[in-house]
Amino acid sequence: MNQPLSTNNNAHYVVFDHMLEGVQVVDFEYRYLYLNKVVVEQAKSSLEELLHQKMTEKFPGIDQSPMFSLLKQCMEERSPQTLLNEFDHLDGSKGYFELRMQPVPEGVLILSIDETQRITALKLMEESNIRYRCVADASFDAIWDWDLIKDTATFGDSFRSIFGYNDEKIVNFSSKWLDMVHPDDQAEIAYKIQCVTLASEKKWLLEYRFKKANGDYAYIVDRGTALKDEYGKTIRIIGAKQDITEQKRSEQQKAVLAAISPIFSQHAQLKSALNAVLGKLIIYFDDFQLAEIWLCDNQAKSIKLISKDSHFPNSEEFYEKTRLQTSFQLGEGLPGEVWRTKETIVWQNVETHDAFLRKEFASIIGLKSVMGLPLIFQDTVIGVLVLGTSKQVTYQDSYSSFYKGLAELLGSEIQRKQIEQELAEIFNAAPDIICLAGFDGYFKKINPKMCELLGYTEEELLSHPSSYFTHPDDLKVTTRETVDFSNTTSSQNFENRYYTKDGRIIWLSWAIKLDLDSGLIYCVAKDITEKKDLEDLLKVANQLAQNGGWEINVLDNNKVYYSKTTRDILEMDDDVVPTLEMGMSFYPDEENRSRVEKVVQKAIEDGTPWDEELQIVTAKGNHKWVRGIGRAEFRNGTCARLLGSFQDITVRKNTELELKKLNETLEERALKLQQSNEELEQFAYVASHDLQEPLRMVTSFLSLLERKYEGQLDEKAKQYIHFAVDGAKRMRQIILDLLEFSRVGRIREELDHVNINTLVETIVSLYREKIEDLNASIVFENLPTIESYETPVYQLLQNLISNSLKYHSVNEPPRVDISVVEQETDWLFNVKDNGIGIDPNYHAKIFQLFQRLHTKDEYTGSGIGLSLCKKIIDDLKGKIWVESEEGKGCTFYFTLPKQ
Ligand code: ADP
Repeated sequence: MNQPLSTNNNAHYVVFDHMLEGVQVVDFEYRYLYLNKVVVEQAKSSLEELLHQKMTEKFPGIDQSPMFSLLKQCMEERSPQTLLNEFDHLDGSKGYFELRMQPVPEGVLILSIDETQRITALKLMEESNIRYRCVADASFDAIWDWDLIKDTATFGDSFRSIFGYNDEKIVNFSSKWLDMVHPDDQAEIAYKIQCVTLASEKKWLLEYRFKKANGDYAYIVDRGTALKDEYGKTIRIIGAKQDITEQKRSEQQKAVLAAISPIFSQHAQLKSALNAVLGKLIIYFDDFQLAEIWLCDNQAKSIKLISKDSHFPNSEEFYEKTRLQTSFQLGEGLPGEVWRTKETIVWQNVETHDAFLRKEFASIIGLKSVMGLPLIFQDTVIGVLVLGTSKQVTYQDSYSSFYKGLAELLGSEIQRKQIEQELAEIFNAAPDIICLAGFDGYFKKINPKMCELLGYTEEELLSHPSSYFTHPDDLKVTTRETVDFSNTTSSQNFENRYYTKDGRIIWLSWAIKLDLDSGLIYCVAKDITEKKDLEDLLKVANQLAQNGGWEINVLDNNKVYYSKTTRDILEMDDDVVPTLEMGMSFYPDEENRSRVEKVVQKAIEDGTPWDEELQIVTAKGNHKWVRGIGRAEFRNGTCARLLGSFQDITVRKNTELELKKLNETLEERALKLQQSNEELEQFAYVASHDLQEPLRMVTSFLSLLERKYEGQLDEKAKQYIHFAVDGAKRMRQIILDLLEFSRVGRIREELDHVNINTLVETIVSLYREKIEDLNASIVFENLPTIESYETPVYQLLQNLISNSLKYHSVNEPPRVDISVVEQETDWLFNVKDNGIGIDPNYHAKIFQLFQRLHTKDEYTGSGIGLSLCKKIIDDLKGKIWVESEEGKGCTFYFTLPKQ
């Protein structure tokens, strides 16, 4: 154990023994004279080892140390010295001591204070600070340090490189930092910082948008730790901001891309899907206020605006004004140019950009720049996405892979949707059944036509096996064609019958294809009910029409086939096998046989079909007429088959022949009739003409008689002569009328414009005297000019008007109304009077020759006038009739064809 220093009997040493600092005294030879307990411990040695030993011997090399030179100085110059000494212990460890050297009579007293702990701590601190600096500078994170007491923030180098801020220090930081946060994020961040500064929270981890020196916002993750004092108050916050903009953007881009495909699946219509996609994109591209999708048409002739979304004000006005610029050609406008170049294109200052075809309207919405991205499918531009903004945009390379991804995704989704829509349209609008069935016998998907044809709802059709709807007699064929063929993939065709919901049976012709991988049967079916019905009808009709079929298989040794009806027509027994020779034997007559041979020969040579009416003698010797139709079928240029029909036309043919005979007789008779008619007319003409001469003689001689024997004739004789003259006059009138009658139709004049007004005026002036005598009125107005023959029309009207004047009533002055009504094909004339009228029983009779209803004493006349009218009308292809009752006047109607 140490000898107490007090053994030196030095009173000081006793004090030194109890000091907390190390105390040692060295003599002038640097021998340890005194060491207290503390210094021995500091030296990590023992008193025995050191006491009275020379310092230089105990610690070799110490005389080279700065401590020793100072000690020497103190010893020799007797001046006090101080030093912070780094001391290498005997055990190799290092110690730091503050040494104060004081000259004392024995030598030098060295007071040593152990600073090892403090200095080591300081050293450590320094080291960690250097490390911190290195980390701060080397880190991609921007490290910041906010001293809340001084309210100063210090930033690491990365702050400059990441966010562009040059300041290393910001004073009054508490009033400034919130400005560096995106307005939308400020509230949340302010609250969080408050929690950290005022409350007990120590750490934070926040994600928000941080304003960069250039005003852009970066997405950052901000991690921080608060240092608190002993009262829990935050005195310092150290944090690191990590720029995650890239990561965030790529996350957002991924999210945008991921959201697009489901939109296309959710919307049935391409247009509404595109609208929804644009809505999504315009939110993502918050720099852009306008988004449009233009699609190339099917023929790739033009590109059309299909969908648009705009957050610009006045968008409606913009689109109203540019409504004619919604379809461009290749190379026209931005969409056309992107289509042509297949490149993303950015145009600035569009309001003055000549290629931007909507430039004059850009100012309506404040559109400044546009960007067009080609939408690509399999290397072909199928459309263009146009984005517009009120700012200047530049193409950002960092977006290029996103743009590419977006363009390809939109391209393929649009293409897929278009195909899907087209298929859906075909599926929905197909006039035939289209459906999918499973191997389990149930339909899986059916089109509207199937429901319509069968009358069942979709649910009903899907919830029963197909056999439920199939006609029981057709189940076998259906199973054979579907299930039994399930090991083949070729398509099958078959026909079967289905029951409709209302119990009708319809025939369906199926084409199906099995897909073993998916276990599905793709089916298309046509409703052939009508065709089937027609086939049945044809069968029946053929039987009824006695229409049979025949066939000669040239390639198969001229094998002959006759249908049942053909056999019936030929009166062949069922067991007889027909041959070519037998066929020809039905034409025993030379003329018919050579005709048959000729047409068959021609058909075999050049395919000319034939249709002949032939006479045959049946197997039972009966004579029949048949209609034989035939044609040749060719295979590889040679005739393979002759086929055709065979119809029994005996009845028709006989009737035809009879009719023909009858016709010939009739024609003969008509000819004879015409001849006799002409002769009669000739006779009437000649007779009436020649009769005039003797009549004139009778009259003139009677006049001579009257003159010569004037005075000698008594009253009776005069009266007889008068009767005779009167009779002759009437006879003359009759002859004249007859002459006129016989002339009708014999002298054909030219078709002319006949002014009926003028015609009636002439007739009126002819009868002027009579009209005045009777105080009659003839009323007509605006009668037309018609296309006809003047003389007969004149005769017609003259006869009718003169009759109306003649057969007037005694009660009132006669009035005749003449009018004409234009009809579709005719002119309808109407001559109406207020005369004595005609009993309906005689309406037909009065048009016959010489038929009169009165005696000559009542009314003069020959009974020819109306027959003449009738004859004229017949000749002009018109009609004439009368409507009248006795005492109520007459209305004569007649029509004249317009052409
Ligand atoms: P006619 O006047 O010379 O006797 P028509 O052939 O002209 O010969 O007439 C035949 C008959 O039809 C006449 O006798 C007369 O009885 C009757 N008839 C013709 N026109 C009229 C008429 N407007 N009113 C009454 N009866 C008429």
